Amino acid sequence: MANNSQQTSQSIVVLGGGIGGVATANRLRRRLDRRHRVILVNRDQDFTFAASFLWVMSGKRKPSQVTHSLKSLEKKGIEVVIGNIEVIDPESRTITVDGKQIHADYMVVSLGIDYALDSVPGLKEAGETFATLDGAQKLSPAIKSFTKGKVLIVTAAPMYRCPAAPYESAFLIDEIIRTNKVRGHVEISIHSAEPGPMAVAGANVSQAVISLLADREINYQPSHQITSATKGTADFADGKSEAFDMLVYMPPIGLPTVLASSSLVGPSGWIEADRNTLSTSFPNVYAIGDNTQLPLSIGKPLPRAGVFAHAQALVVADNISASINGKDSTSSFDGHGGCFIETGFGKAGYGSGNFFAEPSPSVKIRQPSRRFHLSKVAFEFNVMKRWL
Ligand SMILES: Cc1cc2nc3c(=O)[nH]c(=O)nc-3n(C[C@H](O)[C@H](O)[C@H](O)COP(=O)(O)OP(=O)(O)OC[C@H]3O[C@@H](n4cnc5c(N)ncnc54)[C@H](O)[C@@H]3O)c2cc1C
Repeated sequence: MANNSQQTSQSIVVLGGGIGGVATANRLRRRLDRRHRVILVNRDQDFTFAASFLWVMSGKRKPSQVTHSLKSLEKKGIEVVIGNIEVIDPESRTITVDGKQIHADYMVVSLGIDYALDSVPGLKEAGETFATLDGAQKLSPAIKSFTKGKVLIVTAAPMYRCPAAPYESAFLIDEIIRTNKVRGHVEISIHSAEPGPMAVAGANVSQAVISLLADREINYQPSHQITSATKGTADFADGKSEAFDMLVYMPPIGLPTVLASSSLVGPSGWIEADRNTLSTSFPNVYAIGDNTQLPLSIGKPLPRAGVFAHAQALVVADNISASINGKDSTSSFDGHGGCFIETGFGKAGYGSGNFFAEPSPSVKIRQPSRRFHLSKVAFEFNVMKRWL
């Protein structure tokens, strides 16, 4: 509903400078006149684009190409505060950043996740991940010089960011090993904690990815939860052990520490925002992206992916700016989204559809092609060059 607050200056504080936060701040700035303040708060100076970490791993990108200073948003009239959010009080819409309080008329929470590395003992010592920029950088030379033995890729919990990413890592590792002409001496296996690749998207999508893995002679074992790792051996919940020469993992996730102690968190252990408006139970407080848990008809949550954080950001920014501008707000997140699945050799597949469909998500997968790979590159360009 429209309100009459448009006469006074309003401040919108966006918590988090990742995909959701940057998209929200940009959209708000475009929709609101300069009387109103858009403030973005992030711990690190830089925005990093996680979808491109796999290209850092495969040597196709340098870290500087997937990193950008958030301060560049100030040119657009967005105030950027770099600091650690220590306390969030959604009732008074006040946050504490490095000891200083900031009050908001509207608050958008997009703080992502923290990696819960200690939930699998030995994992971080025995293996390396492509899910951080540092890890992707370390993996790059290690994979390039890998000439013989077994690469074991694991998803260390059924729930993680970007359902496609671990499978993309397997295809890209296979590409490097084949390009180096040592594939005959290297075994690549992926063991997933979840029952199938991108399982929330349905059996057809899972089966299509399994076929692509088989085509590339990548062994796949679903529902195989890693429980611990030591140098050279991974142990699984069914009592089996697997030897490896290189362990690559997708880390388990948990809520960022600052949220874990806040009243925003619901019984699921995540922020349970309204799945269409992303509003929380606190007036004028919204939550988007990976820190939310949005229910699907199949009893599982919406996958955590940048494409959804982005779409939700636009909905929230449109509704906040409509409210401030005294207009009716009608924007709603409808559960549609798509995700590229990079398969190497300059190709990507594409899975897209309606995750809110009844009685189950309606998602189609398109076979790998050059076109989808180029679309993924174009999306990266858009984020790195236009958003920041
Ligand atoms: C390897 C990999 C590949 C991926 N590929 C894709 C893909 O192809 N397509 C896709 O859609 N998604 C992909 N994703 C997922 C995507 O990156 C996330 O879903 C997306 O970044 C979520 O956006 P967000 O705004 O919720 O969180 P984030 O982008 O993680 O942003 C959260 C921000 O909050 C900051 N923060 C956290 N706590 C604090 C605090 N206390 N104080 C201050 N700041 C704080 C963080 O530093 C961070 O900058 C991929 C992820 C990975 C790891």
